[in-house]
Amino acid sequence: MSTRYTGLINKYRDHLPVNDDTRLISLGEGNTPLIRLNNVPRAIGKDVDIYVKYEGLNPTGSFKDRGMTMAVTKAVEEGSKAIICASTGNTSAAAAAYAARAGITAFVLIPEGKIAMGKLAQAMMYGAVIMQIRGNFDEGMNLVKEVAEHAPVTIVNSINPYRLQGQKTAAFEIVEELGTAPDYHCLPVGNAGNITAHWMGYTESHKHGFANNLPKMVGYQAAGAAPFMRGQMVHNPETVATAIRIGVPQSWDKAWNVQKESEGWFDELTDEEILATQKMLAQTEGVFCEPASAASLGGAIRDVKAGKIPEGSKIVCTLTGNGLKDPDTAIAQCQNAEMVTIDATLSDVKDAILKNMEG
Ligand SMILES: *Cc1c(COP(=O)(O)O)cnc(C)c1O
Repeated sequence: MSTRYTGLINKYRDHLPVNDDTRLISLGEGNTPLIRLNNVPRAIGKDVDIYVKYEGLNPTGSFKDRGMTMAVTKAVEEGSKAIICASTGNTSAAAAAYAARAGITAFVLIPEGKIAMGKLAQAMMYGAVIMQIRGNFDEGMNLVKEVAEHAPVTIVNSINPYRLQGQKTAAFEIVEELGTAPDYHCLPVGNAGNITAHWMGYTESHKHGFANNLPKMVGYQAAGAAPFMRGQMVHNPETVATAIRIGVPQSWDKAWNVQKESEGWFDELTDEEILATQKMLAQTEGVFCEPASAASLGGAIRDVKAGKIPEGSKIVCTLTGNGLKDPDTAIAQCQNAEMVTIDATLSDVKDAILKNMEG
């Protein structure tokens, strides 16, 4: 029997809304690495087991592929010829790629000037019809909901229920690998679809007897875009972590239920904390995630240090997107990087090596 991995719908088809005749639109998404951190727990001097689920290794570089394979598969099954989304970048990249794969059209609305370079390159390259709006994600989302009532397009934002169905499989993978659910699962929160989807995945795993425990779900927001901390919508969200620059979360009620049922919590990080965590993770563990993703680990470390997450805990942090998505923010943070310009001679290269190995 072939063991070739052909994507998460095929692997988890018994737990997803497909049947044997469904044409699967897949790019081999899912099955991402769960990396155990070695140096971070040592550096903070706490006895905790921290894993990062590196979703940046999905086909278009973010967890959005998990939801998009399902949403586009169902759109095609239902006869749709076009999909549409509002996006801070990663949803548009995923929508564009899966639409190309399916041979249908993707329309994407993105906030002008507020989308990371890699994500814009992807939407262009995969051939989406791009509408840059003079407005933010939340305004784009309202427009998408309205226009879908007047034009033959399927919405593939996370209000499309198939998105969360696909995304819940990340929890299945974690339970499979650990043999249990973690004690804490930490995620960055924007629209709060992913935290909702993970909880769905964990509760289903529990119900089917694959895990005999459930994690506390912890959602971290950027301080300038933290409606869950404010207890109300935020009208001009601002953060360097553009993927979570959202003031009107589409899964607001669902995420509050997740917080209550799982006995977890929400918290916020400043942009400085987010960027410092992103760089620390890259430099101490060799894992490069995008800024928004680092909110999960930055928040978890803070809560471990404070004792809110006790020693002995097993923690999973979702790294939602790949660091290569946002090269501008990365380079801007590394202006003091160890880079020298030298002549192309053996002696200069040798000198540079010896100088950097002193001490
Ligand atoms: C979409 C996204 C998020 C936010 O996920 P929600 O489901 O909207 O809460 C976080 N990080 C990255 C990189 C994303 O692309």
